[in-house]
Amino acid sequence: MNVLPKMLFLFQTLQIMDKMECFGKWQRDISKFVWQGKKPRIKFKILTDAKERGGFALPDLKLYYEAAAFCWLKDWLLLENTDVLDLKGFNNVFGWHAYLWYDKVKSHKAFKNHIVRKALFNVWTKYKDLLENKTPRWLSPMEAKAQKRLNMEAKWPKYWEILERDGESWRLQSMEKLKDKVQDWLHYAQIKEVFKLDKKIGFQVEKSKLETELLEPKTKVLSKMYNLLLKWNTQDETVKSFTACTMLKENIMKMMYRWYLTPVKLVKIYHNCDNLCWKCKEKEGTFYHMWWTCSKVKDFWGKNYNEFLKMMKYTFMKKPEAFLLGITGSELPKKDVKLFLYATTAARILLAKKWKIQEIPTVQEWQMKMMEFMELADLTGRIHDQKEEEHQEDWKKFKDYLNKYCNIKDM
Ligand SMILES: [Zn+2]
Repeated sequence: MNVLPKMLFLFQTLQIMDKMECFGKWQRDISKFVWQGKKPRIKFKILTDAKERGGFALPDLKLYYEAAAFCWLKDWLLLENTDVLDLKGFNNVFGWHAYLWYDKVKSHKAFKNHIVRKALFNVWTKYKDLLENKTPRWLSPMEAKAQKRLNMEAKWPKYWEILERDGESWRLQSMEKLKDKVQDWLHYAQIKEVFKLDKKIGFQVEKSKLETELLEPKTKVLSKMYNLLLKWNTQDETVKSFTACTMLKENIMKMMYRWYLTPVKLVKIYHNCDNLCWKCKEKEGTFYHMWWTCSKVKDFWGKNYNEFLKMMKYTFMKKPEAFLLGITGSELPKKDVKLFLYATTAARILLAKKWKIQEIPTVQEWQMKMMEFMELADLTGRIHDQKEEEHQEDWKKFKDYLNKYCNIKDM
């Protein structure tokens, strides 16, 4: 993506997106290009997700824009980079936290007249409730209540520094304890009022995600911010992935997204053939029929299932979600899941190779494929400094199975 760096430069320098519609338009253009004008076959969210979570890492421009905004927002939340804050808040009436947390934007409309402030504030509003649903630890009531001065003070006490436990709940530390942090009793009384209101919402006791992942790291690297937002945005879309091997991954992805073209789909596209299954030539060739219910495919899974049983040395259910999608649930002990995923993926890859012909793969072919995978896993294990024992453990049952049933010497 040659365009990305250019866009990123723009985003980082100029935080002035007022309307978000243009992102939709850009994204539609990219999508049109990716799918060559055809109907998209994968959800945009999954396209943009990180590769290690089973996505395709297509850049999400809007998210990049928001990540750039968070790089700036970090200053607002932490109140640390006072020079920048002075510059940006030259005509602020209240402290930064008054705008960010206490809704002062409503009483001081001019805050949003500043084009950068407005843009950043909009991004913050979008994420605020998702990230903090109680009074945050990083919030500084002192700063929020402070009389706005031209040059900002550097150290503002945050809630986590000025509260103390009071049995089950929290209370503001005494004026005696806070004497370095407050100016006088009036100031203390003001803060106490704010505290009373905040207490109604409750206080964030543990560090929030925002704090640990965004505020604590001393970095403002855009890509890190982006990855963080991406993780938050796509959390529910994760596709199970157990291997780094692209050959296996490809099949797993294609199963997840029903990528394989079936007779039923082809008829819809070309209108010039029948929609019968290529294997049995009797039933309608739907995705589920082609992978599971077809009598010939059933036979294939039956034979493989017998081999799996010999290998695992215990019985388990023959469920389509486990065999086709790798969703094993509690059916298998955890230590065997990896081997089971290898075994089923090997079978599926073989079946996909004979997708359009009547023939079905043999058990020998499956054994060969598994040996191939074992070597590959060994290789990647060594490259990634995996412990030798770990690899042995993963494949032990398959090796035993080979020795016992195939008379192939240990490789
Ligand atoms: Zn069939």
